[in-house]
Formats: sequence, structure tokens, C-alpha cells
Amino acid sequence: MLLINPELGQTYYLFVDSKGLVTIINSGSNYTTVAATCIAIGDNSVIFGWKTREAAPKRSYNRHSVNLVSQMTYINNQKDYTYGFYCALPMNLSSKEVLPHPKVDGMFCKKCGDYSTYVEANQLDGSFICYNCR
Ligand SMILES: [Zn+2]
Repeated sequence: MLLINPELGQTYYLFVDSKGLVTIINSGSNYTTVAATCIAIGDNSVIFGWKTREAAPKRSYNRHSVNLVSQMTYINNQKDYTYGFYCALPMNLSSKEVLPHPKVDGMFCKKCGDYSTYVEANQLDGSFICYNCR
């Protein structure tokens, strides 16, 4: 799915590939997800956060060395979130949690990000677009 109007404090599932967090889905496979809290909202932008005890995904940064952005609205307890990830909107999000599997038996839709089991690539670039998005 495409995130356009995030909600402060809401939990979302961000896509993760082998290098870390991703906001745009390119090749429709081998993504997992990580739960993230929306801790700040700005003009067409959002910051996701993780607390110290939460596993911070690759490509997130340590927020303690970064100043707050004056144009953004932060969650009240933003200090509790040690790690952050800034994203421009719109961005791709998963509609549900997807954990790593030894074998991938489905694919993510390149357009909406939903996961379909037992499907194969149906686009020339090796990606998959689901029935609803075609
Ligand atoms: Zn779709």
C-alpha cells in the first residue's frame, strides 16, 4: 500500500531488504517487514522511530545526534525513540507483518505492496502486480 497521510503514534510495517529499510519497492521479492512507530509528521514527510530495546533496522540513524526539524510535528515522547528513519511521502508500506522465510513462496505487489502467496512474476522486469492493481 501507499502511505500518503500518516498518523502520529501509529504503527506501520516498513519494507526491509538485505541492505535495510526501503521506501520504494523495485523488484517484487525478498522483502520482509519491520514494525515502526510514526514519531513525526511534516509536509510530505514522516519520521519512523524505534526505542532502544527495539531492534533498530539497518539504514536507521541514531536520533540523539540529530536536531529536531522545526517544520515537523513530533509525538510527545519522541525522546524515547533512539533510532529514526526519515522518509519522503508517498512511500511503499506493507499492510501486514511479513517475517523472514527460508523460502519465498509468494511476491509483493509492486504497486500496492500487498503480499500474495503462490504467485509468480508477471511483469517484464521480474516484479509482480496483483489482480486489484492491474
Ligand atoms: Zn496491488
